[in-house]
Amino acid sequence: MSDSATLKKLVGGSFLIEQPTSNEIFTPEEFTEEQRMMADATTDFVDKEVWPNKQRFEKKDYEFTFEIMKKAGELGLLGVTVPEEYGGLGMKFTTSMLICDRISGATGSLSTAFGAHTGIGTLPILLYGTPAQKEKYLPKLATGEWFGAYCLTEPGAGSDANSGRTKAVLSEDGSHYKITGQKMWISNAGFAHVFIVFARIEDDKNITGFIVERGAEGMSFGEEEHKMGIHASSTRQVFFNEVAVPVENLLGERNGGFKIAMNSLNVGRIKLAAACLDANRRVITESVKYANERHQFQRPISSFGAIKAKLGEMATRAWVTESATYRAGKDIEDNIARLISEGHSHQEAELKGVEEYAIECAILKVHGSEASTHISDEGVQIFGGMGYSADATMESAYRDIRIARIYEGTNEINRMLIVGMLLRKAMKGELDLMSPAMAVGQELLAIPDFNTPDYSEVLSEEKDILANLKKAFLMVAGKAVEKFGMDLDEQQEILMAAADMVIEIYTAESAILRAEKLVSSGVDAQLQVDMASLYLNHAIEKLTSGAKEAIFSFADGDEQRMMLMGLKRFTKRNNPINPVALRRKIADKLIEENQYCF
Ligand SMILES: Cc1cc2nc3c(=O)[nH]c(=O)nc-3n(C[C@H](O)[C@H](O)[C@H](O)COP(=O)(O)OP(=O)(O)OC[C@H]3O[C@@H](n4cnc5c(N)ncnc54)[C@H](O)[C@@H]3O)c2cc1C
Repeated sequence: MSDSATLKKLVGGSFLIEQPTSNEIFTPEEFTEEQRMMADATTDFVDKEVWPNKQRFEKKDYEFTFEIMKKAGELGLLGVTVPEEYGGLGMKFTTSMLICDRISGATGSLSTAFGAHTGIGTLPILLYGTPAQKEKYLPKLATGEWFGAYCLTEPGAGSDANSGRTKAVLSEDGSHYKITGQKMWISNAGFAHVFIVFARIEDDKNITGFIVERGAEGMSFGEEEHKMGIHASSTRQVFFNEVAVPVENLLGERNGGFKIAMNSLNVGRIKLAAACLDANRRVITESVKYANERHQFQRPISSFGAIKAKLGEMATRAWVTESATYRAGKDIEDNIARLISEGHSHQEAELKGVEEYAIECAILKVHGSEASTHISDEGVQIFGGMGYSADATMESAYRDIRIARIYEGTNEINRMLIVGMLLRKAMKGELDLMSPAMAVGQELLAIPDFNTPDYSEVLSEEKDILANLKKAFLMVAGKAVEKFGMDLDEQQEILMAAADMVIEIYTAESAILRAEKLVSSGVDAQLQVDMASLYLNHAIEKLTSGAKEAIFSFADGDEQRMMLMGLKRFTKRNNPINPVALRRKIADKLIEENQYCF
């Protein structure tokens, strides 16, 4: 990407009101040699150290998780984003995503331990720590000498994270806080040395962040939780009984903990999407291999249309998720670079750079976790009875992915955040949703253009449809805001549908622009074009059903009829595709290669 593009002010959520070109988005094909080498080294580590011992994870061998995390530290994988002055590698945002991506090829247990340590366990110090805190903790965290954990959730405070009852009371001499409370579901609690703990001081509106070291008097741990999946990810309750924490371990500002928690989660969300990618690729590869080997009715099951349909769809969703994840990741990276060039410190730039893209981070968290759920579920189905066996790989993949829809903010909470953040940006004047929404209203009153456009250029019809899907979203969301105003918060069913519309638009657009970029680079990308086009069909269907639910819920009579006509117009595909044939083509390529190959 050119310098001028790098320095352009980037606005999260603006994809809804603009029509970006393929030159404006980053695609995974553009990773540098150095980035590819880091990614390959990670895969090498996973293949050599983890896969041969995978059963140890399933047998809840937490010590093995600790051992592997130590080895990851020795390889430098834990300090990818930590600046060099603090013992890390100081690499770019997308490089850190690539590492999460490849680590996910191991198991959900390692991926969770890795994410909890490098993300929410380390980031709060990186983003909000004082120089002294950074000097003390980051070098140890970056190398794996120490591990981190993040204590936000409590028995009575899950999604409503700011309602925690853990208290921090300043000592009479003002030298330390005494923390008392109970945290639950804490990843890495069994072996972490540093805990980012959120507690309330007096009757503050918001919680405050603290850095607490293991071994502090008054700190104790529950037993390992028995979980559905991620069996060797250590998850315990952590109890604090008047644990004395020096005042210099207060993180950021008093009353500022909720902001720390949310900003760390923004990064966690996009990295969670990255941490689905190699898991997807491996599940698909295992599925194809099994389908090629397994014979029923004297044929390999991969020759059956029903299995091809699954494989084609699985590969499409994996490829689309990858396209959208790295597109947003690079936008964040460019935004950080722009802020640094404007004089912001690295810390500030990282914070604001990601915050700007909080909408995209939430989109990717929801989409990534749900695409992987679909992929692993179909993986189990392709394996048939063996898919249900704990001796085969699919069973743990299916169980491990389930948590991704729950932690880092449940998918319901993230869906609400997507729409809430968009509306807040619009109200603050940062994103002009109003003018295009009004223009859509005008367009609906005008006579439609019945001319058939020239769609001879590759993906040109798909891009036109995308522009129309954005109009459909603006029509529905605009009307919902008009109807309910501030009470829209209470219309969660509409918010869920609106979020789905936004998610489908972003992911379909990322795939279409990536395919277009591939074509214009001169490579044979027909199958990628097919995947983008196929996914658009899925997006149209999902968007249409969500929009209809919303329209039926709040509009009737002439208004309902007009909105339904508008929806029909905005979701029309003049030249329908043949999804059966496209899925077969994609599956045939996988079957021929005997692996995921896009
Ligand atoms: C294996 C595992 C590891 C974890 N690791 C950590 C960790 O390291 N650190 C940490 O702090 N936490 C961690 N968590 C906690 C996790 O972040 C929470 O479980 C999650 O935020 C949901 O909170 P909850 O479980 O209390 O569910 P609840 O908040 O009780 O939600 C229950 C259901 O109600 C829905 N719901 C809640 N509020 C609303 C609303 N306003 N509108 C609509 N629907 C709503 C939710 O979407 C969900 O479907 C972990 C959890 C697990 C299971």
